[in-house]
Amino acid sequence: MLREMDEYISGEQPADIAEFIKLNTNENPFPPFDSVLKAISASLNGNLRRYPDARAIRMREIFAEQNGIKPGNVFAGNGSDEIFTLLFRGFIEKTGIAAFPYPSYSLYCTLAQGNGIKYEKINLDTDLNVDLDKFLINKYDMVIIANPNNPTGTYIDVEKIREFVKIYKGLLVVDEAYIDFYGGSSIDLIREFDNVVITRSFSKSYSLAGLRVGLAIANEEIINGLFKLKDSYNIDTLALTGAVAALLDTRSFNYNLGMLRNNKEYMEEVLAGMGFEIVPSRANFIFTKHPAVSSETIFQKLRDQKILVRYFSGPVQSDYIRISVGTMMEIKKLCAAIESILAEG
Ligand code: PMP
Repeated sequence: MLREMDEYISGEQPADIAEFIKLNTNENPFPPFDSVLKAISASLNGNLRRYPDARAIRMREIFAEQNGIKPGNVFAGNGSDEIFTLLFRGFIEKTGIAAFPYPSYSLYCTLAQGNGIKYEKINLDTDLNVDLDKFLINKYDMVIIANPNNPTGTYIDVEKIREFVKIYKGLLVVDEAYIDFYGGSSIDLIREFDNVVITRSFSKSYSLAGLRVGLAIANEEIINGLFKLKDSYNIDTLALTGAVAALLDTRSFNYNLGMLRNNKEYMEEVLAGMGFEIVPSRANFIFTKHPAVSSETIFQKLRDQKILVRYFSGPVQSDYIRISVGTMMEIKKLCAAIESILAEG
């Protein structure tokens, strides 16, 4: 099994990172909130000799209160990636079949392979949206949908997801790593259906990709199952402290989101002005192509200038580049570099 398996390829994280403009891994361009950095610094003390809270009680209580649910509906993981790992480990039989849209977050396939689970990739439709009806043609035991989807940024309405779960009887996982930027969460569905899991991440909207914290929201039975499957102390003390401070600082959170949306809209406007076709995105990145110059050329020439965007191989992906939203200065440098690349032809 291992021999045939593909390793998950993450975006490049160069060692001399300060020399790069890094728009390739959908990180937040703004630093973590001051309140978060202060809280983490304050917990750099002798108490680190103690184990962390194995059940992340405070973080789960705060998130539950903010979202009108119970702490028993919330599980905290070492990034949302850990939650997908646990779902593959314990929530699907070895004889089961999972399904994911394609293209989407490729880690789903890697984790399915690593757990010996068969899966099918269901193509996006021609405008790069997820067509949920296609997930009803065969009987799948687990479906994972990223909403918004990565790498396209496309979004499915909650109402469509609700209609889907009325029929679908397997486990539906809605990966909301990018939901905070433009809203529209499916979190309410956990009250209506016992086969829905929502995942969230602190990596994007809270500027904390380096801390590795994610959440699962579901009915209590699923949450208890995740607790059974997790490592003894899956989230470290500093990460728990930072995540709690981040949740409590709603002002900085909203300010960060506002700036991000503003920068995204600016970037879209400038790139559209240069002739780029941009897939409508509700995330902190765009999926785009230019009619005159290939995406691979743009990617490579930007890289030569130490500007990193993401280029994926694949039948749909290779036509496009994915660009994460940066700071205003980064966007201006990116756009100036692209302008000269287009002029070269
Ligand atoms: N889901 C999607 C769709 C993603 O693109 C990513 C980031 N690569 C993740 C989840 C990972 O989130 P986390 O950092 O919380 O593990």
